[in-house]
Amino acid sequence: MVAVHPAKPSARAPRPARRRARDGSLGESDLVDLEAVAAGIQACRRCDLWRDATQGVPGLGPAGAALMIVGEQPGDHEDLQGVPFVGPAGRLLDRAMAEAGVARDRVFVTNAVKHFKHEPRGKRRLHKTPDRGEVQACRWWLDAERRLVRPKVVLALGATAVRAVFGKALPIGKTRGQRQALDGGEQGLVSWHPSFLLRIPDPDARDRAYAELVADLKQAWRMAG
Ligand code: SF4
Repeated sequence: MVAVHPAKPSARAPRPARRRARDGSLGESDLVDLEAVAAGIQACRRCDLWRDATQGVPGLGPAGAALMIVGEQPGDHEDLQGVPFVGPAGRLLDRAMAEAGVARDRVFVTNAVKHFKHEPRGKRRLHKTPDRGEVQACRWWLDAERRLVRPKVVLALGATAVRAVFGKALPIGKTRGQRQALDGGEQGLVSWHPSFLLRIPDPDARDRAYAELVADLKQAWRMAG
């Protein structure tokens, strides 16, 4: 995969912009490109999730990508590396994208929430699902990425991404495969989050869900093409 990063995780906004990102007064007009968004995320204090995270994890991919894929939040690997979808779920997504014929380096991948929410368990950091307020607070950054990337299709993976993209809950099993117009003019689709697939104990059920994810990626790529 060709890594196309809009800004290095260490990207820093000019001092006044950092301060305004912290106090929440940064405006849409300040976010002129994906680099400004990435820097703003590092300084963001819109909710408390930044406190226990290593860094914010902005989206990855080219501005102008026709397909945007939205997951839930960074996991342990993503938090340490500052890059989305690089852990076990990311590897599964890579495999599914390759099977679906999706060119990973032409897709913008991001998360609904940009800082890793977790709780310590011994030496491990266990994932915790972001709550509604955190998703709402972080939607500001996802909306900024959508404005700047201007994708034709947004594929939301999992319940948290669905809530952030569509502004409401949708039953994924019943609505996957159905395109829905989004406020920004994009077409929206939903599918399973790869980390959900990894937790399905029954191998047959897991294979079925994986096949559905591949089919949904194929559909999204076709619509974006
Ligand atoms: S999770 Fe989102 S809203 Fe909360 S501090 Fe991080 S970037 Fe800001």
